[in-house]
Amino acid sequence: MLSQLFKVHGHFCASHPWEVIVSTVTLTVSVMSMSLLKGANQICGWNYVCSEEEDIKRSDVIIMSVTRCLAVVFIYMQFRNLRKFGSKYLLGISGLFTIFSSFVFSIAVVNLFGNDLTNLNEAIPFFLLMIDLSKASNLAAFALKSKSQDEVRSNIGDGMSLLGPIITLDTVVETLVIGVGTLSGVKQLHTMCCFGCLSVVVNYIAFMTFYPACLALVLELSREKGHAYPFGNLQHLAKVLHEEEESKKPNPVTQRVKIIMSAGLALVHIYSRLTASNGDETLLPSSDIFKLVDGAYKEPDTALWQFYLTKFLTANVDYGLTFFLGVALMVKYLFFDGDVELEVKQQLAMRNMMNDTSQSKQSCTGDGKKSVAFENEHKQCDTVDDHEAHFVVGDSDEDSDPDVNTKETQTESCQTKFPPFKKLEAPRPLSECLTILKSDDGASALSDEEILSLVKAKHIPAYKLEGILQNYERGIAIRRLLVSSAISDTSAMDFLPYTSYDYKYVDGACCENVIGYMPVPVGVAGPLLLNGKEFYVPMATTEGCLIASTNRGCRTLMQSGGVHSVIIGDGMTRGPVVRLESAKKASDLKYWLEDSKNFQKVKDSFDSTSRFGRLKKTHTVQAGRLLYIRFVATSGDAMGMNMVSKGTEKALQKISEEFPQMEIISLSGNFCTDKKPSALNWIEGRGKSVVCEATVPAIVVQTTLKTSVEALVDVNISKNLVGSAMAGSIGGFNAHAANIVTAIFIATGQDPAQNVVSSNCITLMEATGPNKEDLYITCTMPSLEVGTVGGGTILPPQAACLKMLGVSGSSDLAPGENARKLAQIVCATVLASELSLMSALAAGHLVRSHLKHNRSSISMNLSSQVLNSNLSSKKEQLHTLVQEQSIFYKDKS
Ligand code: NAP
Repeated sequence: MLSQLFKVHGHFCASHPWEVIVSTVTLTVSVMSMSLLKGANQICGWNYVCSEEEDIKRSDVIIMSVTRCLAVVFIYMQFRNLRKFGSKYLLGISGLFTIFSSFVFSIAVVNLFGNDLTNLNEAIPFFLLMIDLSKASNLAAFALKSKSQDEVRSNIGDGMSLLGPIITLDTVVETLVIGVGTLSGVKQLHTMCCFGCLSVVVNYIAFMTFYPACLALVLELSREKGHAYPFGNLQHLAKVLHEEEESKKPNPVTQRVKIIMSAGLALVHIYSRLTASNGDETLLPSSDIFKLVDGAYKEPDTALWQFYLTKFLTANVDYGLTFFLGVALMVKYLFFDGDVELEVKQQLAMRNMMNDTSQSKQSCTGDGKKSVAFENEHKQCDTVDDHEAHFVVGDSDEDSDPDVNTKETQTESCQTKFPPFKKLEAPRPLSECLTILKSDDGASALSDEEILSLVKAKHIPAYKLEGILQNYERGIAIRRLLVSSAISDTSAMDFLPYTSYDYKYVDGACCENVIGYMPVPVGVAGPLLLNGKEFYVPMATTEGCLIASTNRGCRTLMQSGGVHSVIIGDGMTRGPVVRLESAKKASDLKYWLEDSKNFQKVKDSFDSTSRFGRLKKTHTVQAGRLLYIRFVATSGDAMGMNMVSKGTEKALQKISEEFPQMEIISLSGNFCTDKKPSALNWIEGRGKSVVCEATVPAIVVQTTLKTSVEALVDVNISKNLVGSAMAGSIGGFNAHAANIVTAIFIATGQDPAQNVVSSNCITLMEATGPNKEDLYITCTMPSLEVGTVGGGTILPPQAACLKMLGVSGSSDLAPGENARKLAQIVCATVLASELSLMSALAAGHLVRSHLKHNRSSISMNLSSQVLNSNLSSKKEQLHTLVQEQSIFYKDKS
């Protein structure tokens, strides 16, 4: 109930920051003016004659000096802690909060009660002593977690609901405890305790109103500057602060003790006040201390600044001591505490790494599998265990218990997967690190800091980090630190994941200089009925509507008897360029290759390089004395680029024996042609050449595709055939084959750059059936470069998508069957998607032509007609797609 109240209050302050801030400031100013009107803002010794100098006791001076010094040290510690958080925002907001709540608001309240401001200089230490900036940072931690302004409000509300009751109780207890000082009989202590109590209350009020509003406003203003997540780099910090807070959750026993204590103190206060009012003169009520001396006002004969300067210069020794301590700590803070932030950053890095390691451990133990590739590491870990005693993970208490560590090391088989990280200490000199690196201990005996410095000094090549560390994730983490230290936005890497990934498949095969991985959403389209079998097609894309549209095409095909597909060609190519002494010699080689006996020699040589690569033919073209030889070979279930390159190299060696003057200029002469548009691939084919066909009944065209056969055929001719011809397209006689090819390629671990050639497609449509009512559609894709082994297909998520299609790895039937089936699935999905998009376009076309024909005689603003028609057709398409999607998921559920 109480928490809920604080939550609502916090939410309100964060939702109306301007109102709250302006109200608080207005209230403060009003209160100050009220007191000024009363003429109470008088300064002893400046604009009025002071009451008789108090006879300050020696003990008072000592108590005061100690209190002042304590206050200075306390403030120093507070700021040092804040600086640890590494945030200028926190410092700024909390500083503002301090100044406002401690001085401005307090002065206003003191003024209101007509008290002598001169005493404030005595009370300042108490103001400072009472301010707990950690409260401010805790609430900030809640707010900083937010990713949007709405979240800021609700997080501040949540923070308030948690912190509000605790702080309220603390305020009560503090007020009562400090209040005891007012009963001490030491006059100055009495004064200060009064101000202390006031400070606690004022601080509380400011924390409850001004601060959350200020926090919400600062975050909002930063966001408005154009940063989506202004405190992206602080979210880590917020997490850590939050975690720390979690671990420091109020102990209910302490809370109860506080309540009992405050009740007891309240009784003491009541009793003391009562006895004091019964004539005990040693306890002076605070109003007496601050009372003005009647009739003692006089015109000031010095300026206020002169008054304070003189006062300062003539100050007593105890003031000098405090001043000296303050200056010393300030100098320390400004010039010698620079490593505080570094220390925290290191702790954060360490914490992340520890989390990452524990995640890896969890994932390892989670699926219960032990990876083969890490067997070596397990062996190394055996040796690492010897060093176990030297490794300290973090500073937690658990780590100090060697038994715990040993037990964990023994029981958790996966724990040894990564050697534990060394505690971050001050890095040792580079030369010493180098010696350790070259010693038997190697990199595992160095801290991350030290490894980083070795990389920076070029003693360790950054690309070899994983190998040298014998630990993928640690290597990647250090490379990320290296990159982060070199880029301006150090938070850039925060949202690029790198943990919980099986890098053993990547290492030396798929990617170098790894800093993480890119998660791409994967959707599914289907069922796709192809050659009598149903497939659910995984597609990785960030283009909205693509999968929904493809899904509608699949549904249409399901209602139409499905797609039929045939493979009409299979051959991966590599086309080197060779130079001969003359054009004549070049043509001699061309003719030599056309001889079947010679070809057989070359083929034998080529085929000897692989169990699956089989040379089918060579295709040569000549330009002067340059000869381009296109080697065409089947490659089993592999896409075959590496395989065919290897075979080609060997075949060229064979040819060189006959033509020793032949100069191999490049193994790839761009006559392959790989990853570049070319008429050659379009005409001759590359990889798998596939044709898919389907007949869609008129009724399905009308009901599911919401168009007509006539309109579809018309749009197909005008757009896909004539339009592309007018654009001088090569292989682009389709609506959007590349969309489907790329999405399936990414999901199934194909080489995504090969979408250039693989997307070659011609979509043909015609009216069919006895009355030419139905739609006959074909998609011909002559150059689909796909494989189910090798390349990215070995990565587990990609392999999972291949498994979904039943084509993962080598085919059990015959080499190449899986790859050919995959090519057919891609082509059939393209057909489904072509149907859907073309229908949407045809429907839009019809709307436009209806508008045109029906309204041609009416004078209207044509541009607005077109706009409206576009809008309505888009809405209609979207509506249909959404409907399709929901039907699909309803069916599935
Ligand atoms: P690969 O992984 O290099 O070769 C396939 C491997 O799988 C061969 O070792 C092969 O055995 C073996 N294999 C086992 N079962 C097989 C089966 N049923 N069918 C076929 N092979 C089988 O794969 P690739 O397709 O040749 O090359 C793909 C990679 O090349 C991709 O990473 C791609 O990005 C990259 N690429 C390279 C170039 C280039 O110019 N080199 C160009 C573009 C892309 P054998 O040893 O007996 O052949």
